[in-house]
Amino acid sequence: MQIKRFKKKIRYYLNKKHIEWENACKKCGLCCYEKEHTSHGIIINLKKPCTYLNIETKECTIYLKRFNIYNKCAKMTVFHAFFSRYLPKTCGYIQKYRKWQIFSFPHLND
Ligand code: SF4
Ligand code: SF4
Repeated sequence: MQIKRFKKKIRYYLNKKHIEWENACKKCGLCCYEKEHTSHGIIINLKKPCTYLNIETKECTIYLKRFNIYNKCAKMTVFHAFFSRYLPKTCGYIQKYRKWQIFSFPHLND
């Protein structure tokens, strides 16, 4: 009985953390465009969205199956939240997890 209750609590906690993690995303879609290295740093090319991005809603059209369908889709991790140079400074994960601003962030290019 005790173990059942413990498992239930763990499941509840993990589910809560998962929801918090997903909610950090502002659904801006900016991480779903091609990035280019230039002499000014990394640029997000707004003319080149991922094939699976709905540019009207800014949502991924294959979200739940994205890692199975598109092998170039990179999973957002805590490591990315802290260190990725490819995310815009407006990204919800950057704003939540990276309080310091020592890295350069990509510019937008449309
Ligand atoms: S497959 Fe990945 S990169 Fe493409 S739109 Fe979906 S989440 Fe973005
Ligand atoms: S750039 Fe950040 S906030 Fe915007 S969709 Fe990507 S992960 Fe979410």
